[in-house]
Amino acid sequence: MTTEDEAQRLLIVEDEDHLAAGLKLNLELEGYRVDVASNAKEAGQRLLDPSGYDAIVLDVMLPDVNGFDLCRKFREAGNFIPVIMLTARSSPEDRVLGLEAGADDYLVKPFELNELLARVRSVLRRQRWEQNTGHHVKQTTLSFGDAEINFDTHEVTVSGEAVQLTQLELDLLRYFAENAGRVLSRNELLERVWKLRNYGNTRTVDNFISRLRRRFESDPSSPVHFLSVRGAGYKFSA
Ligand code: CA
Repeated sequence: MTTEDEAQRLLIVEDEDHLAAGLKLNLELEGYRVDVASNAKEAGQRLLDPSGYDAIVLDVMLPDVNGFDLCRKFREAGNFIPVIMLTARSSPEDRVLGLEAGADDYLVKPFELNELLARVRSVLRRQRWEQNTGHHVKQTTLSFGDAEINFDTHEVTVSGEAVQLTQLELDLLRYFAENAGRVLSRNELLERVWKLRNYGNTRTVDNFISRLRRRFESDPSSPVHFLSVRGAGYKFSA
């Protein structure tokens, strides 16, 4: 068995037993090793396991600490495991909260099982691609405008102020930086950054571009770094 074939480990943090059991079963059928934590405290204990997890599926509504706070705590502790949040709420503010808390992706309940499986495959593929290609060696730092980014240490500052980016935001930023000046279609970004092929929903890309603009543009409504190219996609200019 090669490293590539070893089962990847997932942690589901979900207090609704039937939902957790259903997710566990289906993810196991896909070949993952799956553990379930039914509250934030248990999740914290699980994450101390030195063999670690490859990704976390995290429910927002937990009995002790809410998922947003738990995710923020992981990130503040320097834990950059991919997190997919499950939210029962669908208001744009909640989606933003999830992403602000450092989630890589989110799904609104009720969701299709296939959609969750696709998102899980996507975050894991992205992580494996990083590890296998040593992609971060190619470009370790980036500066543009008032921003300084170190892709190795995840240290990001804007005008000297520390900013926290998720792995996905860093990956997207790096892909832009490595392809500066070139027009990148939404589908290319989904395929190269999200590792999603023939994925119909390109809104995800637009949401993340908005996020990068809010982080890095002095006037997000008239961007000078993350440019829209009408009918084609986006272009990065340092
Ligand atoms: Ca719940």
